[in-house]
Amino acid sequence: CGVIGVFGHPEAANLTYLGLYALQHRGQESAGIVSGDQGKLYVQRGMGRVADVFGLEQIGKLPGDQAIGHVRYSTAGGSVLRNTQPVFINYRHGAFAVGHNGNLVNAAELRTRLEREGAIFHTDMDTEVVVHLLARVPGDDTGTRLAAALQQVSGAYSLVCLTESRLIGVRDPMGFRPLVLGRLIDSGGFVLASETCALDLMGAEFVRDIEPGELIVISKEGIESRKPFAPVGRRMCVFEYIYFARPDSVLDGVHVYSARKRIGQALARLHPREADLVVPVPDSGVAAAMGYAEASGLPFELGLIRNHYVGRTFIQPAQRGRDFGVKVKLNAQPNILRGKRVVLVDDSIVRGTTSAKIVSLVRAAGAREVHFVVSAPPTTGPCYYGIDTPDRSQLIAAQHTIEEVRKIIGADSLGYISLEALYEAVGGCGQGFCDACFSDDYPLPTPEGHGSRQLH
Ligand code: 5GP
Ligand code: SF4
Ligand code: MG
Repeated sequence: CGVIGVFGHPEAANLTYLGLYALQHRGQESAGIVSGDQGKLYVQRGMGRVADVFGLEQIGKLPGDQAIGHVRYSTAGGSVLRNTQPVFINYRHGAFAVGHNGNLVNAAELRTRLEREGAIFHTDMDTEVVVHLLARVPGDDTGTRLAAALQQVSGAYSLVCLTESRLIGVRDPMGFRPLVLGRLIDSGGFVLASETCALDLMGAEFVRDIEPGELIVISKEGIESRKPFAPVGRRMCVFEYIYFARPDSVLDGVHVYSARKRIGQALARLHPREADLVVPVPDSGVAAAMGYAEASGLPFELGLIRNHYVGRTFIQPAQRGRDFGVKVKLNAQPNILRGKRVVLVDDSIVRGTTSAKIVSLVRAAGAREVHFVVSAPPTTGPCYYGIDTPDRSQLIAAQHTIEEVRKIIGADSLGYISLEALYEAVGGCGQGFCDACFSDDYPLPTPEGHGSRQLH
């Protein structure tokens, strides 16, 4: 998911809308904005992309100089209108809205307990647990109560919250998901955003990352930073750098595009190939393929062209024996690939089904050899912290050796990045990141059992 917050701008909702546009890659299932005007909150939410949900009419119903917004990609709760965010409530302390990026690992237990106590849930989202907890903790200050509510929660959360007078941002103690603070150049107001690419579009300058475990309260009095949680050490999601974040963003001080290029350079060193061309699987493999080409001296070519206009409602003709799946999105160019030995670069292999289809597309376009290199290590475990990976039984690298995966996807060779090389590329020594889906080292207890190494 992607989240935005704006405080202190006469067109807060419109700016939030711009920010959500920049974060559309983080979720396309639904979009929503809650704005605040003179102590009242207004809400507009809907299914689909930002452009499907918001027009002049909807923005016009969101007055005020403060707002939060959310684009959703579901990891908990189905993709239906009821589950759109921001979650918005009226309770004894007034109105409150929250947008959540992440996933709570103990939401089911908390929900069972709360329901036994009489709570009535309106959605299937883990995020709703937070507002039920918030309604129960004592105290007057929302920031303090929010921190107390979050003490009971385990998992990944970057939150933006709006009350009648304040914008609150929180990053969980491990900082799995990013969250940044920016300053609006024209009004001097403040912005919270999942990624810096949103600040660029909103006309805000980057101030700093919200730190893991930090709760920041923005009001007319200014900014107040709190550290309500016991420090546990940063575990930022390394997959944000490989795939999820936009390449033009800077996450925790690291430029994503540059990190991806360095991963590609490392792949060229780890998996050098006798080949004629380096071809990315667009868009996710582009920066790594550039790095591979640079380091290997092989020419970079767009042998696969992506159609950017494929909607979710593509109607498959009932013609037998034709699977349009990947072909609708990607076309392989025989004029580039015919007779060539190709190094194909993609960000990750999850189920392996897409990768197998892409390899066969490239071969059908005349490639003589296809060498697949991957800018993630083998994906061997599911994510419980906000990325929607299928369960272990469907992860090809959890069920098969690398050699078996190579055969299944039909490549002449297959090479993954190593964890060591990955960390060198993202500029760290492996400390301070989560890499559980590659290493089985789960930083927080998972519903499947902590560090489920024994399941292999
Ligand atoms: P596979 O070969 O596993 O079927 O598909 C791999 C492709 O899925 C890669 O190109 C990668 O870009 C994409 N991918 C990786 N992670 C995710 C994810 O969390 N969501 C979506 N929609 N695609 C992903
Ligand atoms: Fe990121 Fe993987 Fe950790 Fe999930 S398990 S937070 S995708 S590194
Ligand atoms: Mg891809």
